[in-house]
Amino acid sequence: MKFGAIEAGGTKFVCAIGDETGSIIQKAVFPTTTPGETFLKVFDFFRNKEIDALGIGSFGPIDIDPKSEKYGFITSTPKPGWGQVDFLGSMKSKLNVPIGFDTDVNAAALGEVIWGAAKGLDSCLYMTVGTGIGVGAIVDGKTLKGFTHPEMGHILVRKNHSDEFQGVCPYHGDCLEGMASGPAITARWGKKGQELSDNEKVWELEADYLAQALMAYTLILSPHRIVIGGGVMKQSQLFPLIRKKVFEKLNGYVQHPIIIEKIDEWIVPPGLGDEAGVKGALALAAKSVRGELPM
Ligand code: ADP
Ligand code: ZN
Repeated sequence: MKFGAIEAGGTKFVCAIGDETGSIIQKAVFPTTTPGETFLKVFDFFRNKEIDALGIGSFGPIDIDPKSEKYGFITSTPKPGWGQVDFLGSMKSKLNVPIGFDTDVNAAALGEVIWGAAKGLDSCLYMTVGTGIGVGAIVDGKTLKGFTHPEMGHILVRKNHSDEFQGVCPYHGDCLEGMASGPAITARWGKKGQELSDNEKVWELEADYLAQALMAYTLILSPHRIVIGGGVMKQSQLFPLIRKKVFEKLNGYVQHPIIIEKIDEWIVPPGLGDEAGVKGALALAAKSVRGELPM
């Protein structure tokens, strides 16, 4: 079968054609402008491709409740022009195929359990640390949802005693995203993360906040694997720092070989690299054609 995939981000859209093995045959990337203009580019891309199903991993917040009147809408996003946009409905109006719709990070988590760093596991967390901080999860083989999608990037963290930064989250100030996203790094240190590679203090502090969050997620969800991607994680020195701090913070309370013996295999970069989201969207397409997802 031939599947379509859309990884819809606030900065760029990635559209792809692929199959049930996760291979991508064709891909296009374009900037996210207005919904009208961006959707036209999506329709252009999929014209005459004869896909059997489509998967969408979208930035949000989005409405993922199939019973809701606004199922498939992008809802309260601060991104200008994109609030209350009927994303799924617009796609359905032009592409007459089953469509799987989920968050970008839930899609990435799904991609990672099917083809990536969490292959074969039935629970996994996928965190992206970039312009924002988003977290998706697979629990019992399914993407995690409640009355809406979880927003684990906005949990509260304990301020490091050396840190006087107030945070950049427009809603909460010093939540995790407010303290540890790419823009938080830039605002705190006066330079972008990519220009701060040599400054050890930056990454110690960054790892402290990310480790606090991972400790909370671990205590709540106990994921078999934690995959961390996004622009900030290109600073690969963060991985050993984060592992060490998660281990220290848990302080022997959660006793399991995953943590005691195999922490290097537990907290890892994406196996699918920058394609976790778009491949996850392919997986959503495959699930929708098998009737495993609401339409
Ligand atoms: P987005 O979240 O918009 O999809 P990215 O995941 O690339 O995009 O995140 C962009 C953020 O990551 C920016 O704040 C940028 O400064 C930061 N970033 C990108 N590359 C690096 C890097 N090599 N080191 C540290 N920070 C980086
Ligand atoms: Zn917040």
